[in-house]
Amino acid sequence: MFRPALAGFDIRISDFSCEGGRAIGNEAGEKRIGIFGGTFNPIHQGHLRGAEEIREAFRLQEVIFIPAAIPPHKRMRGIIEIHHRFEMVRLAILKNPRFRASDVELKRPGKSYSIDTIRHFLKEYPDSHLFFILGRDAFMEIETWKDFQGLFSLSSFIVMARPGFHETSHGAQLPKGLIRFFRYDQKLKAWLHPSGHALHFEEITFLDISSTKVRELIEEGKSVKYLIPAEVEAYVQKHGLYGKIGYTNNTKENE
Ligand code: ATP
Ligand code: MG
Repeated sequence: MFRPALAGFDIRISDFSCEGGRAIGNEAGEKRIGIFGGTFNPIHQGHLRGAEEIREAFRLQEVIFIPAAIPPHKRMRGIIEIHHRFEMVRLAILKNPRFRASDVELKRPGKSYSIDTIRHFLKEYPDSHLFFILGRDAFMEIETWKDFQGLFSLSSFIVMARPGFHETSHGAQLPKGLIRFFRYDQKLKAWLHPSGHALHFEEITFLDISSTKVRELIEEGKSVKYLIPAEVEAYVQKHGLYGKIGYTNNTKENE
C-alpha cells in the first residue's frame, strides 16, 4: 500500500516526487494504478478519452475499468445486465495495453461499493498507489458513498474537470463536508488528506457525451457513431440493446 512518509498534515513537499507540480508518490518503483468505476451503460468516448488523459498526466501504469453490477446510487431501471456492460467495456479497451477491465464487482454479491473495490485492489497490489478516477458529477456526491472517509485513507483521487475549471485554495470545488478533512498545497496543486493521499482536480478535454444521451439516441433509432467505439456499436446492434424500436441505423451501409 502507498505509505505516506509522515502522518497528519506534516507532509513535506520533498517527500513527493513532483512533476508538473503534482504529488505523484513518494516511493521509487511504486506501481501507480488508476481505478475507474462506473455504470458504463454503455461506455463511451468521453470515458475513454478522460481515462487516457489522466493515465498520461499522472503516469499511471494501468487504468482498471470496473463496471458496477449494482450501482448503489442509481435506479436499476434502464440499466442493462452487467454481463453486457462488462463485455462492452472489455471490447472498448481491448486495443489499449494500459487499460484493463475488471469483473470484481460482477463477482461480488450485493451493491457495488467502491470502498470494497479499493480494498480488493490494495490486496491484489499491496505495494501500489491507487488513484480513484471520477467525474465532477460523481465526486460532488461522494459524501453519500459508503465509508467515504475510508476511501480517502486508502486511495488518492483524481477528479476530471471540464476545460475552464478554476482550482481555488479555499475549497469552492469541494463538497462542503469534505473541506475540513483536506488542506490545499499550493506547490503540489492538490488537496492533501491526513493519510497522505491527495485529491487532484485535472482539466481534461471533456467530451460532452453521456451514456444517457447515447441511450436516448439509440432509442430514437439515431446514429451513435463516433460517440461510442465501433466495437461497442457493433455489440449494441448485435444484441439489440437499448432500442425500443431496435437499433437499425446505418446497418444497410455495412451490408
Ligand atoms: P449516465 O448518463 O447514465 O449517468 P455517464 O455518461 O455519466 O452515464 P457513468 O457510467 O455514470 O457514465 O460514469 C462513470 C464515470 O465517468 C463517472 O465518474 C462520471 O463522472 C464519468 N464521466 C461520465 N461522462 C464523462 C465524460 N463525458 N467525460 C469524462 N468522464 C465522464
Ligand atoms: Mg453519470
